[in-house]
Amino acid sequence: MRLIFLGPPGSGKGTQAQELKRRYNIVQLSTGEMLREAIRSGDDLGKEVKDIMEAGSLVSDEIIVRMIEDRIEKPDCDHGFILDGVPRTVAQAEALDSMLASKNSAVDHVIALKVDMEVLIRRIGGRFSCEDCGAGYHDEFKPPEKEGVCDICGGTNFSRRSDDNPETVRARLEAYEAQTAPLLPYYREKGLLSTINAMAGIDEVTASIEKILSEA
Ligand code: AMP
Repeated sequence: MRLIFLGPPGSGKGTQAQELKRRYNIVQLSTGEMLREAIRSGDDLGKEVKDIMEAGSLVSDEIIVRMIEDRIEKPDCDHGFILDGVPRTVAQAEALDSMLASKNSAVDHVIALKVDMEVLIRRIGGRFSCEDCGAGYHDEFKPPEKEGVCDICGGTNFSRRSDDNPETVRARLEAYEAQTAPLLPYYREKGLLSTINAMAGIDEVTASIEKILSEA
């Protein structure tokens, strides 16, 4: 199964991808996470993208397409994947389509997560993740069962994203509207798009996604 999650920052793409990858035994590919990892490691890519990400702008299509092409080649993607945060522009979507076509493959479903702006800001404001395994949490909506301890790996180190501050969030939402929202008609025309109301709780949204996948 090859899935794409589309939606603005805070709409739950990462959270839902983490749920589904366990259920379907497929890989979650988050370009944002790959780029943050490059910044943490201090490599050339990390140095190149750090300021762009801090400003809430999009990294160039060229970098993203190269990164995703390399990643999709790896054998763990043979079984399927969920793209979380990519494609973000029509150029990335076209590059992804031709890359998959060259392997006699294609995207199966695109799921758009719809959430009101007010809720997006509340969701982004409270989120944090486990530094050891990457599991995502939220102060209000998804605290760890035991305070200060990761439910998944037992780790005790957590961090918050530096681009989750109000000013950068505004820029990221603007980038979404200008550059990523045009992907909705792109995938609708291909008959691949399902839109779900992602205002509900995490489990309810997961159930809506599973329903779509089971009916497809
Ligand atoms: P995310 O974790 O998906 O919210 O992404 C965080 C940041 O990484 C974005 O604000 C962009 O600066 C960059 N980024 C992640 N994925 C992409 C992409 N597909 N295209 C361009 N920039 C991206």
